[in-house]
Amino acid sequence: MKNCLMWVAAGCFFLGAAGTEAGTKVTVAYHNNDGATPAFEFKSVPGPSMNDAATTAKFSIVDGGADSNSGGLGKLNDGKLPVDADQPEENFFFDAGSDGGRLRVDLGGVINVRQVNTYSWHPGPRGPQLYKLYAADGTATNFNPAPKRGVVPGQCGWTLVASVDTRPKSGDGGGQYGVSIADTGGHLGRFRCLLFDVSATERDDDFGNTFFSEIDVVAADAPTAAVAAARGTVAPVPGFTAQTADGKCTIAINTELAPGLKEWAESKLVPALVEWYPKITELLASDGYTAPDHFQITLKPMDGVAYTSGRNVVANSEWLKTELDGQAVGSLIHEAVHVVQHFDGENPGWLVEGSADYIRWFKYEPQSHGADLVWLRKHGGKLSPKYNAGYRLTANFLNWVSEKYDQDIVSQMNAAMRENKYDAGLWKKYTGKTETALGDEWKQEVMAQLGQASPFK
Ligand SMILES: [Zn+2]
Repeated sequence: MKNCLMWVAAGCFFLGAAGTEAGTKVTVAYHNNDGATPAFEFKSVPGPSMNDAATTAKFSIVDGGADSNSGGLGKLNDGKLPVDADQPEENFFFDAGSDGGRLRVDLGGVINVRQVNTYSWHPGPRGPQLYKLYAADGTATNFNPAPKRGVVPGQCGWTLVASVDTRPKSGDGGGQYGVSIADTGGHLGRFRCLLFDVSATERDDDFGNTFFSEIDVVAADAPTAAVAAARGTVAPVPGFTAQTADGKCTIAINTELAPGLKEWAESKLVPALVEWYPKITELLASDGYTAPDHFQITLKPMDGVAYTSGRNVVANSEWLKTELDGQAVGSLIHEAVHVVQHFDGENPGWLVEGSADYIRWFKYEPQSHGADLVWLRKHGGKLSPKYNAGYRLTANFLNWVSEKYDQDIVSQMNAAMRENKYDAGLWKKYTGKTETALGDEWKQEVMAQLGQASPFK
């Protein structure tokens, strides 16, 4: 993985009731803003786990308050991670303007703890972690289970385990952090409760409280493999997936490079795709053919609008942002048609693109009038009257052939192309007229309908 930095801070502490000297080791792994991914994968620190001892622990705030924009304490042990760098609702953080607070993790009983791992992610000063970790088995006679700021935990039954400060010497330290607190002797100690005394990483403004994404407590008897195996079970793909309405296809949407489009993708794009992918599959059904049962759409800044290669659709996030109320969803319906067409041979581009636009403009969104007479009228003088110009003009031609000669023409031509058996003679076979004759007739009829408003030069 590129752009990774790692450093290790070691310190010695006395731990355990018997006063055994042990070496606590704090390992800090870091990805800068370019290197951070939703996988939270670090070379030197285990990945976040969803089945550690903290998963079933009780988290509570002992002092301070949760910021109302944060996702709440539940985000710390749900085994789920943010998928981008600035996702307040997927993290826990203390109130804006405050200097952090104190968090308690009650494991429900005394367990032998091997590691405590904490994860955070933010592009600015809320990325680094600054806290002291205390632990207790809860048996001290003067034990205070909820020591507020001002009460010294070491004087009421708690033991200092580690001091963590991942802030860099210069800069705001934005990025993703994995911190692992372990012990060279094998385990940290037998604890029932952990107390995190968390501080803001800076007080220059109100926004210095760390975005904590997950806190894991690994029991000493957890199999070693379980720690590593947990990696990958959490947020395996950046973005999210959705199932089509017929349950036959999984669509993965990757918004890693376009986090601003995630909400649009969830609320607008996906509902259209899950409904229409099965319909497109039906429209382009052919003998012995099963449409892909999964494909992925990646939204990212690039040149152009969109393209499809096999099961991979890539669309320009910057263009989409300018068309959210316009062509954005329709353009991806067009790409979904390419996924279903599933061509791997040489086929006439005009017919491939015309078919995709036919399904988009005449089936999916006829109300947009993107390729019919209404659209043609708007483009007076700017178009050549060519049935094989591709895209919208060919879509108009295909619609005309469908209505006048053969309602299955698009599906039949698609089936031929899918089997690499397309040839121009098929037009005559299905309609009784040659391709050229159909093109001429279409042109005459369209021009007659448009009259003075003919768009053709
Ligand atoms: Zn296309």
